[in-house]
Amino acid sequence: MPLTHRIGSVTVTALLDGVGPFFQPREEAFPGATEAQWREADRWDPGTVGPDGGWRLPFRAFALRAGDGPVTLVDAGIGPADAFAATWAPVPGRLPAELAAAGIDPAEVRTVVLTHLHTDHVGWAGPLFPNADHLLQRAELAALELFHPELPARLLEPLRAAGRLRVLDGETALTPGVRVLSTPGHTPGHQSVLVEDGDERLLVTGDLLVHAIQLVDPALPYAHEEDPPTARASRESLLGTLSPLLLATPHLGLPFTPHPEPGRS
Ligand SMILES: [Zn+2]
Repeated sequence: MPLTHRIGSVTVTALLDGVGPFFQPREEAFPGATEAQWREADRWDPGTVGPDGGWRLPFRAFALRAGDGPVTLVDAGIGPADAFAATWAPVPGRLPAELAAAGIDPAEVRTVVLTHLHTDHVGWAGPLFPNADHLLQRAELAALELFHPELPARLLEPLRAAGRLRVLDGETALTPGVRVLSTPGHTPGHQSVLVEDGDERLLVTGDLLVHAIQLVDPALPYAHEEDPPTARASRESLLGTLSPLLLATPHLGLPFTPHPEPGRS
């Protein structure tokens, strides 16, 4: 069964689409990290070190549902065998089977929040979710030259033609206790989703962070961020102002990671 966490009336379900090696050594992806920081990160989140010492990462989406109401999906994984991510990610993903195991019919998904347009986050977007509006920031759609060249023709234009592409400008409330936050830097229009109930908070991060090394030191730049200073500011701002909170991440070893680490401050 997929892992879940409950915040107020909202059940957050982690859906594992796949696990595979990153396309370069992790030391090249985080050139500023020290040996001591890698040790700390691997202790905090041991699940992403492959047998060869390389970076082996999960690819997840998250489903949000209040009671038996409509489902909001955050991110859409690596996708089927012919997906955009096929050149580097372990396609086909298993999201349809994960949804079934979680008791979610794709037709019940009414909203798909795409945190950004990288290929490992949009794989199942579109046809699998015929009743869903797909939500993207205007700033992301204004930077299409950064992304896969077939993205407009294969995904965005069909969604727009069907009236299922919803363009957001910054922070946007979705349902009670659930809102989209603007978290730019990894990409120009990157967004995350905050679920709140009283003092309890859960942040579906997208690629606001991609490895626990960025929890050890949120200032560390990641080689595949479009705008590292802005990405750092987004990370430091959210981790600084929202913690304590639970992070629901696509790529850390465990789907739910508390911040700060329990027993530390
Ligand atoms: Zn990613």
